[in-house]
Amino acid sequence: MKYKVFIIIAAVILAAGIIGSALVMNAPARDIVRVISDGEVLYTLDLKAETDRTFDIEYNGHINTVEIQDHRIRVKSADCPDRTCVDMGWLTSSAMPIVCLPHHLVIEYSDSADGVDAVTR
Ligand SMILES: [Zn+2]
Repeated sequence: MKYKVFIIIAAVILAAGIIGSALVMNAPARDIVRVISDGEVLYTLDLKAETDRTFDIEYNGHINTVEIQDHRIRVKSADCPDRTCVDMGWLTSSAMPIVCLPHHLVIEYSDSADGVDAVTR
């Protein structure tokens, strides 16, 4: 009986450790995200304050559907030819903004340096 309790406690500690480290690894450096279309900042979003939703960003008749879920952001779907922006998945690092080259769309953490200059014409 005692042995069983010990195993349960050990399992709980182990699980807490795994969850804890997962949270640390997934935590973004900042939660302020910019959505930039054709060099213009369309939205500045505080992911911590955002609720789950999707919205469309239009560029020259083309659509990127952006999804916010669990305080993360990604391009859920797009009608661009390469779909690189969709393949990039969730925005996790300020060093790796989500970019849709055909639609001149960038989603990035606001602390990434020179991000705007790269797409400003
Ligand atoms: Zn794209």
